[in-house]
Amino acid sequence: MLISAAEWAEERALGPYLIRSEFALRDVSELVQHLGQLQDDLELMLGLTCNPQEIQIHLFRTRSGYIDYVGRRIPEGTKRQALFVQGTDAGRVYAYRHRGLETDVRHETTHALLHTALPYVPIWLDEGLAEYFESPPGLREKHSPHHAELQRAIRQGWKPGIEQLEAKREMLNMDAKDYRDAWGVIHFILHGPSAARESLAAYFEEIHSGRAPTPLSQHLRQRIPNLNQKIIDHLK
Ligand SMILES: [Zn+2]
Repeated sequence: MLISAAEWAEERALGPYLIRSEFALRDVSELVQHLGQLQDDLELMLGLTCNPQEIQIHLFRTRSGYIDYVGRRIPEGTKRQALFVQGTDAGRVYAYRHRGLETDVRHETTHALLHTALPYVPIWLDEGLAEYFESPPGLREKHSPHHAELQRAIRQGWKPGIEQLEAKREMLNMDAKDYRDAWGVIHFILHGPSAARESLAAYFEEIHSGRAPTPLSQHLRQRIPNLNQKIIDHLK
């Protein structure tokens, strides 16, 4: 089958990335700079080592160009605004130009990098981390829109449901509130008490060992009494 190639205006190799863009990359120079930093940020914050072979990032000028290109390769992907697909030879990110392009690309590239650091990432954790790292560096801790939404929800009696998030096995089961809640738990882990980061490290170690890992919620509850209230106090 002949698959039409997009007309790339620019192709650039940058660290582990091969960026192919239908528009000049100088238009998104800040994004390119953030991508260059993302692996270091992720490794530093999560205590992981990424081993990317190649991550191809495809940037389209229009939504219809994206749908046309992605639809020929991953038909189910056209419903999404952006996409990450792990291939055997490379990870592939697809996104198109609109107001949220840079956020989308940081989000999907976080998935791509994470999958080179861990043999397995549960959906909620994968999405929570991608929601965290999709903000530009420097704005992640204090300026995510999820924070204000959660503060509002907390005033209305919100409780973190880590076990409910852990029960989501399909991305289709994750709704917008789940993304927000996963972000909240990740924020607590990364910026809350050190026992939370120790829990994450212990969990990652179990994943690396190849054993079936104890759920992260249990690691957290073992180390942090009254976990739900601690998360609420941290976020409010
Ligand atoms: Zn995602």
